[in-house]
Amino acid sequence: MLPDADVIGFGLGIDYADDWGHRGATHSLAFAGLCAGAAALAWREARSLVAFLFLTFAMASHGLLDTLTDGGLGSALLWPFDQARIFAPETPLRVSPIGAGFFSARGVETLLSEIRWIWLPCLAIASVGRLARRHSPGPKS
Ligand SMILES: [Zn+2]
Repeated sequence: MLPDADVIGFGLGIDYADDWGHRGATHSLAFAGLCAGAAALAWREARSLVAFLFLTFAMASHGLLDTLTDGGLGSALLWPFDQARIFAPETPLRVSPIGAGFFSARGVETLLSEIRWIWLPCLAIASVGRLARRHSPGPKS
């Protein structure tokens, strides 16, 4: 959720399309790596390459998923090297209303869209992984 903290910029006069505007720098792969590095400095358990890559991917997933939405500007995934706002070739996710609008019929549509396109596929993949792990030789956990 940290990347969307950039919405405070609206109140500070930062334009949506600015580098530090909504879906700008905080949605980039570089920012994801910086946050993973900061986590490693602050949290001993995060001081491994695997943890760094996991945290970077987790943070980057926000910007990547925002490229799948059907509104607003795309994500500045390649900031600071390229300020272009990027959308995926397909945009099946309903864009979320910002602020109090989230608690509206459109917000419910957004949640249903995210359940359909993100949560159910993730649940299916996790279930297959769990089944595969259960039926594989080796230590169980
Ligand atoms: Zn976002």
